Amino acid sequence: MKKLLVVAVGFAALALQAGVSAWGMDVHRLITRRAIEGVPADLKPFYAANGDFIVEHSADPDLWISADLRGELGNESPNHFLDYDGFNEPAPFAGVPREWKAVVQKYGADLANKNGRLPWRAEEIFNKLVTAFTDVPKGGYAADNVKYLSAVMAHYTEDAHQPFHAVTSYDGQATNQRGIHSRFETELVLRNKSTLKLTPVVIKPIADIRTFFFDTLIDDQPLVPKILDADKKAAEGREFYDDAFFADFAKHGALAIAEKRYSDSASGVASVWAAAWEKAGKPKMPVDAARTPARIRK
Ligand SMILES: [Zn+2]
Repeated sequence: MKKLLVVAVGFAALALQAGVSAWGMDVHRLITRRAIEGVPADLKPFYAANGDFIVEHSADPDLWISADLRGELGNESPNHFLDYDGFNEPAPFAGVPREWKAVVQKYGADLANKNGRLPWRAEEIFNKLVTAFTDVPKGGYAADNVKYLSAVMAHYTEDAHQPFHAVTSYDGQATNQRGIHSRFETELVLRNKSTLKLTPVVIKPIADIRTFFFDTLIDDQPLVPKILDADKKAAEGREFYDDAFFADFAKHGALAIAEKRYSDSASGVASVWAAAWEKAGKPKMPVDAARTPARIRK
């Protein structure tokens, strides 16, 4: 048991170094790649042509945490989660306001920021993405901005589908299961990468981006105790988080949940991109990345 704890602390330290990044950087990229395969036909050539760029940069917002880049609402870290259970409101958290200013007013700025700002950050980036899509017919850098903002939007959408980004005990601290964050999102997924049972990417209509993020975070809630339970059962009588542990962790239900949220996440990303494009009036997207700027004459 002692050794198990030591390994657990090691995992926790790694998770903290990475800013406790949702899904781990590799899994972010895998989900984004899958989302690209499922975008609507009109968008497919653009996303396919720029796939490598979008996939690579879908991990960027986690780097902004370590580089301490700051956005409109403050430092980057709280932009990646909403610890819905941290407001002392009963699930499904109808008492938690959905306007950021109202949250700050009700709970104070400290608790509001401590519990996270993911839905509001997602809305901020979504609006920028809509603007970029809207500007595409004008040329310039708009299509480049669509590429980058699509990558960033993918990141936040993927974070919202990771159940441990919706709870205060994001790394199992409350139940002495430290390291669960990366055991679930990274180690379990990467160990089963080639055999994951994923459902096809489905484009769902998104009427309101903030509501979509709140709904996704509410869906995360009941999954957390199930993952913790699988982790506890798999750890029983073991000294290490080894192959046998991960086989048991998968068998006790954690893998099925990871597969579901991975699938939901890819569908979510493709749906969010499609929603932004529709909101911008479905502009025709350039497929050739190389531009030929007109010569400016006086
Ligand atoms: Zn993140």
